[in-house]
Amino acid sequence: MSKAEFRSGYVGVVGRPNVGKSTLVNQILGQKIAAVSPRPQTTQRNQLGILTTEQYQLILVDTPGIHQPVTKIGDFMNESALGTFSDVDVILWIVDISVKPFAEDINIAQKIKALNLQENTLIALNKADLVVQEDLEKAAENYLELLPEAESLVISAQIAAGVDRLLERLIERIPVGPQYFPEDQITDLYERQIACDLIRESLLMNLSEEIPHAIAVRLDEYKDRSEKNAYIHATLLLDRESHKPIVIGKKGAMIRKIGEYARMEIEKLTDRNIYLELNVKVEKNWRNNPKVLRALGYFIRKD
Ligand code: GDP
Ligand code: MG
Repeated sequence: MSKAEFRSGYVGVVGRPNVGKSTLVNQILGQKIAAVSPRPQTTQRNQLGILTTEQYQLILVDTPGIHQPVTKIGDFMNESALGTFSDVDVILWIVDISVKPFAEDINIAQKIKALNLQENTLIALNKADLVVQEDLEKAAENYLELLPEAESLVISAQIAAGVDRLLERLIERIPVGPQYFPEDQITDLYERQIACDLIRESLLMNLSEEIPHAIAVRLDEYKDRSEKNAYIHATLLLDRESHKPIVIGKKGAMIRKIGEYARMEIEKLTDRNIYLELNVKVEKNWRNNPKVLRALGYFIRKD
């Protein structure tokens, strides 16, 4: 490919929570920039994953998914996920082929149809590793009939099956264009936002069901102490007094566990020794407090 044919473009990664959007983005970029969790909604904002080679720059917009808003955060998340549909060159719709379509999947398909974007859409039939070979075709049909004119590929993001082929197709579908970001930039997130997401991931991994979703993570300080060392201070804002003993645990056992997991993940990513200090504070109703939300970065729109 000659220099003149450099391609660049935006891919909107859409799909209901938990289908494997972040796993796929990480797989394509080969680095853990999007927090992955067995439970939905670790990713709370749109974030970019940028893959640059001599021939192309592919910009993946990983979205928080579309769901029923119950709070101000819910509204914000929906708005940013929906905006993605029409602003991108390719819509990569990820579905979980190991289960039948949910109402949310059907909603997304309807949205794509209504916006007349079927032909811009590539359906990634993910989690194929969970389906036996002879059932694959039938399982795929449940999704393909929702958008019969869209292209589709069967993949498993987790084991990187079909991901190379998918990447090839994405590159073929983005236009000839300039390099928008420097070649060493893999995300538009700052280290501190990534640290926040990894602390949030740790909450999801260590605490049960609804508690993590009632906690906001505020990063108070991120200081480089040397090239190899950094200090992070973060506060966990709880919206209920009764959650405090659970989050702290017996003699602080739980908060230590949360901190330890987050520290190791941040170290893996930053390749540094991290000193992480976690505070716990009750801030009732933080979800509906615009000031708290703004401090957490929820209303800062990129672009
Ligand atoms: P997101 O909410 O769409 O970003 O989903 P995540 O990437 O966070 O993944 C949700 C869960 O599905 C995690 O536990 C992943 O490990 C798992 N997962 C993702 N892709 C695959 C896959 O191809 N196969 C299997 N078996 N699990 C997957
Ligand atoms: Mg995600």
